[in-house]
Amino acid sequence: MMTARVTECRDCKAKIMFIKIAGKDRTMPVNAESVYYIQKAGGPAKIVTPNGEVLSAELTDNPDKATGIGYISHFATCPNADKFRNKNKSDRKKAR
Ligand SMILES: [Zn+2]
Repeated sequence: MMTARVTECRDCKAKIMFIKIAGKDRTMPVNAESVYYIQKAGGPAKIVTPNGEVLSAELTDNPDKATGIGYISHFATCPNADKFRNKNKSDRKKAR
């Protein structure tokens, strides 16, 4: 079900993958390790499902309670997420 390639966050070196967001022409970095989640509107975690849907959810360790298996947005856990968000600015300065 999952064909995304595992890669490394260029900032914190965590294992991440890029999942294509359903219906959008873009990908989102997520932690490579899958998690169990309980889908919940307004939940604290941003989950991306293997199908590329982005959900609000609560994480759980209990597979019996979980509504599915997904991936946590790497923006939420990357210690250098600010750099990510300013990526466009810094890229421009670097002059590729
Ligand atoms: Zn990172």
